[in-house]
Parts: sequence; C-alpha cells; structure tokens
Amino acid sequence: MKPSHIEHIGIAVKSLDEVIPYYEKLLGQKCYSIEEVADQKVRTAFFKVGDTKIELLEPTSPESTIAKWLENNPRGGVHHLAFCVDSVTDALADAEAMGIQLIDKAPRRGAEGLNIGFLHPKSTFGVLTELCEVPK
Ligand code: ZN
Repeated sequence: MKPSHIEHIGIAVKSLDEVIPYYEKLLGQKCYSIEEVADQKVRTAFFKVGDTKIELLEPTSPESTIAKWLENNPRGGVHHLAFCVDSVTDALADAEAMGIQLIDKAPRRGAEGLNIGFLHPKSTFGVLTELCEVPK
C-alpha cells in the first residue's frame, strides 16, 4: 500500500451549524458541500486545503458511531485520518496481510461517491484509519 496523499481528516462535531462558520473563517472559504450519508447516519460538510479535505461529521441518529464517539469526546475532535489509495480492495488486502484488523472486509460507498474501507484503531495505535479511492 502506498497512499498518494491524505484524502481527508474526519472531525466529529455535535452540530455542523455551530462549527461550519468557524472553519469558513479559519480557512477563508465557504463549505463547498454538505451531504447526508444515510449508511453511516451522519451529515458531512467539506472544505478543501490543498489536496486534503476537512470532513466535518455530525451524527443524525443516536445510533451513529459518531454519536457514540461524541459521548466519550464531548467537545468533538479529530475522529479519523483517510489516505487516498489506487484501490481500496488491494489496500485492505495489504493491510490484512500486515496483520491489521479490518473494520471493512470489502470497500463500501462513502461521502462524495468514494469507495472507502476502515482499519480498526485497535491495530493502528489508536488512529481510526480510512482508505479512500476515487472511482475511475
Ligand atoms: Zn472519512
């Protein structure tokens, strides 16, 4: 696996409405996309810094993994790191061969139509790690 860059940094927030204005000021730009990902029970908002995006994640249900994470981290904060790879299928296989525990055995569809797969923070020294692939 040889990621080309950090595709995005996922940041958990209680309220997009509360946090978006902060990032708009900090980064000197408007949020360019707000998208609900029903599968993950989150609403996402995106900014772009160079090749890397900032992905704000707001839970839409108490069942959301983001809602659960916020119970332990009530101020919000950095939730995951996402690397851009050529093939999520191949990268997941590489990770598994390295003995890394996978959350996703196969790619699934994430925000912005990307193929994504997560590695378990138990075997990534506490960093929830996402692999992303822009579909060709
Ligand atoms: Zn992500």
